[in-house]
Parts: sequence; structure tokens; C-alpha cells
Amino acid sequence: MSSEVGTEALTRRGLMLVLSSPSGAGKTTISRALLKEEDNLVMSVSATTRPRRPGEEDGKDYFFVEPVDFNLMINRDELLEHAKVFNHYYGTPRAPVETALSEGRDILFDIDWQGTQQLAQKAGDDLVSIFILPPSTAALEKRLKTRAQDSAEVIAQRMSKASEEISHWREYDYVVVNEDVDHCLAEVKAILKAERLRTRRRAGLIDFVNRLREGY
Ligand code: 5GP
Repeated sequence: MSSEVGTEALTRRGLMLVLSSPSGAGKTTISRALLKEEDNLVMSVSATTRPRRPGEEDGKDYFFVEPVDFNLMINRDELLEHAKVFNHYYGTPRAPVETALSEGRDILFDIDWQGTQQLAQKAGDDLVSIFILPPSTAALEKRLKTRAQDSAEVIAQRMSKASEEISHWREYDYVVVNEDVDHCLAEVKAILKAERLRTRRRAGLIDFVNRLREGY
């Protein structure tokens, strides 16, 4: 009896990996690197009413929509979660998430604590949440300033919001400190690797295990 793990045996439902952090803690860098290095991981592209920043692409970084269209999406129940962050609305389109999960793909979410709470209620075991902390307040401020995408007023607003966002760190499954991007990335990858192997996600192994047991 062969004990090789066939493709069907590895089949599992996708998981939802949430990364949250205050703006400037390096979450975008980590997300991009993760998507590049990980097979079977896709990004959830949020809808937002926030204006597009230089270099951002519609449909890739966000779906940039008018407030009226955002409201329509809410009313049609097309968003899995939505929240107001820094005076703008952000939300996760439902359809791409459901498709990805049913195809066994993992999905990465860059959303705030409000969205994470909503997803946790809906997704249950499918959700894995990680909070990324900056190494210090000074480092966070420096990163926000060198990013140079926002006005001084917006930067000040984001700094004052950082403390509120950080206050939710204990609601997450995991917490990592982004002192060094490579190290932080390695930690996030280790979490993803272990979560993919969780017994409860491996129903696809039933036949394989049965064959193994029959071999004895
Ligand atoms: P930014 O404007 O810097 O791209 O994002 C601001 C904040 O909004 C970030 O903390 C980001 O995680 C959060 N955010 C982005 N998309 C969503 C979303 O779809 N839902 C929620 N709840 N937050 C989001």
C-alpha cells in the first residue's frame, strides 16, 4: 500500500490571514514580500473612499470608489466587513474571498482592528490574525515621515491613531515586533506555515490516513 501523500490528500480549505498594525509599522512591506514568496496566497483588495496616493493603482492597491458606491456595496451586502478609518471608509469585497477560500487558496488581509473583529465573528476557525508592532514610537513617526505620501496634518493624525490601534493588540492570535523586516517576515511566514498544517484544516488527509492505517 502506497503511503505517498497524493494531491487530493493535501487539499484543504483556504485560511484568512489578517495583518494589522498602526500605519507605518511596515505592514505593507511585509505583505508584499509575503505575497512574492508564498505560493497559494492572494491579497484581498479592499474598497475605499480614500483618495488615491501617487503610485497606487486602482484594482491593485484598492478599489477606489465614491462614497455613494461604497454605500451601495454595503446595502447589497457585498462587503464582508467595513469600517471608518481616518475619515474614510474601507471594506473587504466578499465575492473574491469566498472564491479563494473554496478553491483552497489562502487570503491575506491588510485591515484594521475593527475589520478584524468583524471577520473573526464571521470566519471563526478560518481566520488567523497577526498584529505587527513597531519597535518604538520614534521609529513609527520616522517611517510615516519618510514615506512622504501624506501631509504633515495627516501624519500627526496617524500618529495619534496609532496608540488606539495598538491598544487592540491582545485581540490577535499572534503578535510580532517589526524591528527588522527580514526577521519579522520570517516570523510571519512561520506562523502561516504552522497554521496551514493545523489538524482541523486537514480534512483532506482522511483518505491518506485511512490508507496508512490499512497498511498495518
Ligand atoms: P491606508 O489609507 O494607509 O492605505 O490604510 C489605512 C488603514 O485602513 C490601515 O490600517 C489598513 O489596514 C486599513 N484598511 C485597509 N483596508 C481595509 C478594509 O478593507 N477594512 C478595514 N476595516 N480596514 C482597512
